Amino acid sequence: MDLTITPPPGYSAVPDARWTWADPRCERCQGSGTVWHTVYEHDIYGWEYDPEEVIPLYREPDDCDCVWTPDVDVLEELSRRYRSWGNADRARDAWEGIAQAIGPRRPGGWYWCGYWRTGYTVVSIDYSFYDGDPASPAWQMTVQWDDGHRTTHFTAWDHGRDSCHRAPARHPGPAPVPPELRSSAPASSRGLWSLLTSWFQPRR
Ligand SMILES: [Zn+2]
Repeated sequence: MDLTITPPPGYSAVPDARWTWADPRCERCQGSGTVWHTVYEHDIYGWEYDPEEVIPLYREPDDCDCVWTPDVDVLEELSRRYRSWGNADRARDAWEGIAQAIGPRRPGGWYWCGYWRTGYTVVSIDYSFYDGDPASPAWQMTVQWDDGHRTTHFTAWDHGRDSCHRAPARHPGPAPVPPELRSSAPASSRGLWSLLTSWFQPRR
């Protein structure tokens, strides 16, 4: 079987979608290959609807009309090879996924877990392979929580919630100004004029 892939001229590969190309000149998707449409309540339940009173439920991605993929039999063969033992592309994708899931965590490092609102130290990160397949790596980490207990899991790093730093303590607010500084001129205004005006400020 000829597995040569020849997308239409000017098309570019869609990021994060295997064997999918889209047209960067497309006005609907700008080459992303994806268009979003809103799903309404009446779509799902087949209700009659009043156009003035439609209820949007959620948005759903759809392939754009411009999307191009190889023929089905070629796709099946490409997919079969991708899933085969030790496939290098699949191994790379898997390791990229693992690197993303582990995030900045390294053995010996201390991290803040935003979900449990507590800290932990990474004891070890261990790797294994499903069915001995080098393209099917798996990982897990053993951590010691700040209260001393240990767990082993493979919870992905959450960039929005987890941190390498301790959560900031509640800020006590600005320190009170000492009385002897309350009516003096700001330190930045050192000109004669500001010195003179500061003399004439009422003393408290
Ligand atoms: Zn398009």
